[in-house]
Amino acid sequence: MNNIETFSNIPHILANGTEWYLGLSACVDGGTKLYGVSGRAKRPGVFELPLGTSLGVILNECAGGMQDGYKLRAFLPGGASTAFLGAEHADIIMDYPTPEKAGSRLGTGLAILLDDKTSPIGMIRNLEHFFAQESCGWCTPCRDGLPWVERLLIAIEEGRGTPEDIERLHDAARLIGPMGRTFCAHAPGAIAPLASGLKMFAEDFQRMVSKSTPGTVESGAAGQAA
Ligand code: SF4
Repeated sequence: MNNIETFSNIPHILANGTEWYLGLSACVDGGTKLYGVSGRAKRPGVFELPLGTSLGVILNECAGGMQDGYKLRAFLPGGASTAFLGAEHADIIMDYPTPEKAGSRLGTGLAILLDDKTSPIGMIRNLEHFFAQESCGWCTPCRDGLPWVERLLIAIEEGRGTPEDIERLHDAARLIGPMGRTFCAHAPGAIAPLASGLKMFAEDFQRMVSKSTPGTVESGAAGQAA
């Protein structure tokens, strides 16, 4: 089974030929791509553009740029299950190899923006909440590990976290993240924004635990599972 974006190209390729389709692209891989922008852009949305269009064009020309009063701090180039890239990559070519060379993935091509006034910890917590809810429950690291990750992030966000909780998040990323530990790519995808965010926003995490009132975060079965 493939996705509907791919299927929707087939009638046009059959009608117009492969050369026509390849010629629509701005890079060696052919065709168009549904790119998107969400977050504090002026006109968030989905835009069909030549594959290989730069994020600068997608964000500034199609989505109208950042909202007034907000700066781009970082972004997930290919949706929730890709790793953060910093604002220095804001004009990155959105083909397959370039985001990989920068340390992330093209993924869905739907960029999620982090602005300079939004907490990266809150953003990652929100993403992990989504992934924990979407787990089908088949594999223990995903079923129990992702809710545990979410609880640790909530504690840090609410000022109850400890430096050890940051270490636990690193451990969870190391243990749940690699492909092959779980039956499908849901868990490794869920860990991508966490693992990259722990590195990119290390100072934010440290600042939150340095002023926190430590509480207890129950690991439950996940402690053994992960
Ligand atoms: S990794 Fe995939 S198969 Fe395993 S519990 Fe998560 S969603 Fe289900």
